[in-house]
Amino acid sequence: MVTTVEKLKDYLELIKKKNKELNIFLEIRPEKELLEEAKRIDDKIKKGKAGRLAGYTLAVKPNINAIGLHASCSSKVLEGYLSTYDATVIKKIKSEDGLIIGMVNSDEFACGSSGETSAFGPVKNPTNPELIPGGSSSGSAAAVAAGFCDMALGSDTGGSIRNPASHCGVVGIKPTYSSVSRYGLIDLSMSLDQIGPLAKNVRDAALLLDIIKGKDSNDPISVESQNLNLAELGKMKKLKVGLLDLKIQDQRIQDLVDRKVKEASDNYGWALKKIKIPYVDLAIETYYPLVYTEFFSATRKFDGRRYGKKIEESCGPEVLRRIIGGAEITKAEHEGRNYHLALRVKKLIEEEYSKAFREFDVIVSPTVPRLPHNIGGKISVEEMYSYDSLTIPSNLAGNCCMSIPAGKINGIPVGMQIMADKFNEQKMLEAAALVENLK
Ligand code: GLN
Repeated sequence: MVTTVEKLKDYLELIKKKNKELNIFLEIRPEKELLEEAKRIDDKIKKGKAGRLAGYTLAVKPNINAIGLHASCSSKVLEGYLSTYDATVIKKIKSEDGLIIGMVNSDEFACGSSGETSAFGPVKNPTNPELIPGGSSSGSAAAVAAGFCDMALGSDTGGSIRNPASHCGVVGIKPTYSSVSRYGLIDLSMSLDQIGPLAKNVRDAALLLDIIKGKDSNDPISVESQNLNLAELGKMKKLKVGLLDLKIQDQRIQDLVDRKVKEASDNYGWALKKIKIPYVDLAIETYYPLVYTEFFSATRKFDGRRYGKKIEESCGPEVLRRIIGGAEITKAEHEGRNYHLALRVKKLIEEEYSKAFREFDVIVSPTVPRLPHNIGGKISVEEMYSYDSLTIPSNLAGNCCMSIPAGKINGIPVGMQIMADKFNEQKMLEAAALVENLK
């Protein structure tokens, strides 16, 4: 068996060779320290005392606090900000002997869908460095895809785990809202943000999710959920599958995903039926007023007095757009009109999904409605926001959702999105594992 030390050395060698070009890791822990920790983990494995993540190496999105690493949020605002505590997810990973190797790049403050808004330069897509890797957990997905680590943590407010997972050809999960503690996560939009795993396959992603989930006294809205049963993954299951009936930009993506679902249904006897979800076409218009408002509120602490720089003076254009937008929406004269309207549509979408999940086990669609553009390519704000039209609904509804590789178009990975009801991660993962087995 390969030891953790050997694995780590291989990863570090590859990172040394390719990280400069791909711009994935912003920070790697000192090699000596990593090797010592890997050795300690190997000793534990030998003694049969190791945790469930022993032997796995992990990368972390820089909006999650981990002692000794920089939680810069890929921003000049928090550049040089050294975390003084571990987020709950980091504590849990460490207690199961996962080896965290460093912080990866992302969109600035998780605002973006392309990995281009980072203050430290764009992340490249390992499958084709001319293309964006998706975002905002760009480095997390790219690190896994490039073979720099086994797993990564990302955060997903409107698709930021699933979108880059789709473009990079890896697995990414957005857990049910409140099932994973957000303690130690730097907010984008607190009523939507969730931390979640990215990995090379469904089983590894499920394992990491099983470890990070759970109630946490430091996050009052977090709740306990059932443990996952990984032994069930890959076992034959008859499922009722809804195919989201919504016109997307690139028909080739829809066709590819449809073919894959059809193959699964032929192999496993799944019942397939198209389903329209009312209001889902309003997802983007509903999401941004909420995000602008909550982000504006969350960033008031970056006033340059206690730590970091004053955000308005040092952030990039996308972050500034949201702050200015949030300041406008929250003006007293508007009496919170747009925010409350958006909350009402959010509620409607949530109710429509609960209805749909009375009939279906899972609902399937493409993850992203279009292929990734070339890095630096000029696209409008609306086009950029449209990348998330299919991922945002599950953040608004608060249920669980994941992306798995479904195939390629012109060599570019395309993801399939699988959504299940709140706290029904087990069902979602069972469906995903069966689709994955078709390869
Ligand atoms: N791309 C979306 C946005 O810019 C989603 C971000 C995210 O999920 N963190 O808000």
